[in-house]
Amino acid sequence: MTEPSRKRPRPTDPAAPEGCPHTRLPSGATKKDDEFWFDDGNLIIVAQDVEFCVYKGPLVKHSPVFRDMLTLPQPAEAGELGHRPVVSVPEHPTSFRHFLREFMAGSGFQLPGDEPVFEVVCAVIRLGHKYEVDRIVEKGLGYLKKQWLDNYSGWSFQANLAYARYWANPHIAERCISVVNIARLTDTPSLLRPALFECCTIDPQDLLKGHQREDGVCERLTAEDVTRVLLARTELVKLDALTALRIFRNTSGECYDYHNCTHAFQDAISELTESPSPSRMFSADPKRPSWFDCASKTDGPSFCDACLMEIRRKENEERSEMWNMLPSILDIPEPPRPEFW
Ligand SMILES: [Zn+2]
Repeated sequence: MTEPSRKRPRPTDPAAPEGCPHTRLPSGATKKDDEFWFDDGNLIIVAQDVEFCVYKGPLVKHSPVFRDMLTLPQPAEAGELGHRPVVSVPEHPTSFRHFLREFMAGSGFQLPGDEPVFEVVCAVIRLGHKYEVDRIVEKGLGYLKKQWLDNYSGWSFQANLAYARYWANPHIAERCISVVNIARLTDTPSLLRPALFECCTIDPQDLLKGHQREDGVCERLTAEDVTRVLLARTELVKLDALTALRIFRNTSGECYDYHNCTHAFQDAISELTESPSPSRMFSADPKRPSWFDCASKTDGPSFCDACLMEIRRKENEERSEMWNMLPSILDIPEPPRPEFW
């Protein structure tokens, strides 16, 4: 499924510093970059306090923004340093270094066999978008789309991985804030459902604090998306409660221990409605232990295998249905229907 065209006009990255590239001599103290200073380079780019001496050709060839900047007549204040033109950009040097690697080293965010680094991927997408280098924007978005899958089976698998990653680093969940903003910036709707849904799992206080990027920018959702997430979160908790009540309503038609299972179902409902333990609180978070897991490890009367299988089947069915309702719950466009051949 192809995404809609993301050609101009390009919205500005709301989290990026203000300013546009322009040519001028650097002011104040700057230092040469250790990685991108080629003695025979023919262009100096100053990103904040770091100077990069690189080759103009690849930038002019692939970036219409740099092409215009470096080939059109420059204002009187444009400068040269050692007979090389000097361009100042407002980007953080770390982010700009990631971007340059895509041009000068062929791969900014993935070495063979390596897992791409999330912060690098996002920086390259943001700058690729700003400087209109579609090739590297598509490459970065391709990685994000593999991590934030917009289909139920893929998402369900990734949610399990996210659960494992979450315990290694709880702050990893806040990365989805950056993914939502990149989806908005690049007009990539297929990232919206999985990333906004993940935002619903973040504690609202942490959501408002935002995601601290490596370039120092604290990235937050727009006010519209914060509202969207908080409203959806309430709706998802309600759906989770209804799901649990439906799952624990009846024994399976295949039940072979009806008396014991009837008690088990009654106990489950009593616990949910009267004194829920922390692991059985209704939640918008799919990383919370499943109702099937709770039923398998109950301290009270145990369920027979037939009833356990029925609990699992119903839960999968309810979760799949919830996934299909997400565009409506999140108030985002419905994804296009799959194409059948
Ligand atoms: Zn049973």
